[in-house]
Amino acid sequence: MNHAEKAEVFNKDEAKVNWHDKALWYVREKRDTSAHKVQGWEYLRELGSGIKANVLSNLDEYLVQFESNAQKNGVIVHWASNAEEHNKIVGSILDKHQAKKVVKSKSMLTEECHLNPFLEKKGIEVIDTDLGERIVQLAEEPPSHIVLPAIHKTKEEVDVLFQEHLGTKPSQGNPEYLVSEARKHLRDKFLKADVAITGVNFAVADTGGFVVCTNEGNADMGVHLSKVHIACMGIEKIIPQEKHLGVFLRLLARSATGQPITTYSSHFNKPEEGKEMHIVIVDNGRTEQLSREDFRASLHCIRCGACMNTCPIYRRSGGHSYDYAIPGPIGSILSPGKDMKKHSSLPFASTLCGSCSNVCPVKINIHEQLYKWRQVIVKEQKQPIIKKSILKVAGVVLSKPNLYAIAGKSARFALKHAPKFMIYNKLNAWGKARDLPEIKNENFDEWFKKRNKDG
Ligand code: SF4
Repeated sequence: MNHAEKAEVFNKDEAKVNWHDKALWYVREKRDTSAHKVQGWEYLRELGSGIKANVLSNLDEYLVQFESNAQKNGVIVHWASNAEEHNKIVGSILDKHQAKKVVKSKSMLTEECHLNPFLEKKGIEVIDTDLGERIVQLAEEPPSHIVLPAIHKTKEEVDVLFQEHLGTKPSQGNPEYLVSEARKHLRDKFLKADVAITGVNFAVADTGGFVVCTNEGNADMGVHLSKVHIACMGIEKIIPQEKHLGVFLRLLARSATGQPITTYSSHFNKPEEGKEMHIVIVDNGRTEQLSREDFRASLHCIRCGACMNTCPIYRRSGGHSYDYAIPGPIGSILSPGKDMKKHSSLPFASTLCGSCSNVCPVKINIHEQLYKWRQVIVKEQKQPIIKKSILKVAGVVLSKPNLYAIAGKSARFALKHAPKFMIYNKLNAWGKARDLPEIKNENFDEWFKKRNKDG
């Protein structure tokens, strides 16, 4: 199924779509209010983008510097060229410690690498400890948003899910009750865990330390209660110096949820005495993306989710319709680089309104990259013959003003007088959920000339 077909499934529940749309727009508005309170917000965005561009141009040096400083701090550093290697490395660390219980705090990279199913196959229990992540884990679904993973679920649905899996009482979706039950359930998991896995938001080259941002403190809780900490990061998570954290931490939380700062910005530098800390640095297609001149800026992404919250397509089609670990506009420019055939419909799932680029804290030209991918995909992939022929005819008509005027006149006549079934049928996907506006007798040109003549 392509994006449009998957979106159709989500669109079946109209009330839910409206609610999903409103909920995400509310987050977008919070982001606006919060960003507007910061003097020099645009300057901060420029800085963030500039620092990321510098990182990408000197990635090799910063990564080696980070590795060497992390090793000096007593951290064990691993390199993985792809998802398979990443999973094997994590698996081997767990085997070495005979770990059977793992708590994980939110990490989109481990989602991207499908770490959970890999570890579960080895008989290891992996518990996602971010509340939203735990909800989707219990529902056996992937996250639908990178910051709000269970945004597609109503509190009533969570109520039923918790009754089924955690044995809670029916509460008609009482959030306080559900959160307190989740807390009890997760606390037990934290206390029994052998190993904690976290993601990395920012890895600082000149100190070898890294920062993990959470709102629930689950990364800290997991790390402090386990003997081993494994942090998994993509190669683009590097920033040159500690002082640059001031730029990114201010941009990240405001863009993500409108908060001035995430509740916990946890700094990890070295293992506690008697404990072990590992960092797995993962490529998994990022160097290839870096080599694509038109798309390399997509690696600036700090995973705030703002482009999703603002996107009219994402809000009304839901994250699962993208079928990729990172959904929404940014996912639509990352995924074709991973598997163009599978994800070829995603760059077309956009109005190209540019709202994503406007809110992106690191100024990624998302809508321009979506447009570029469309060109690449049309060139490299077989297009449906109907679409190809229509575009060919449109190309001829649009390049000849006289022909365009005749075609317009005929189309207006046909749309006015043709029977309904000829206009609204299977071939007209656009008309499935929409009525055409009233057809006028004249086009703009004719109207304009007449208006001038009439004075
Ligand atoms: S592309 Fe920009 S707006 Fe979208 S998640 Fe990444 S940083 Fe945020």
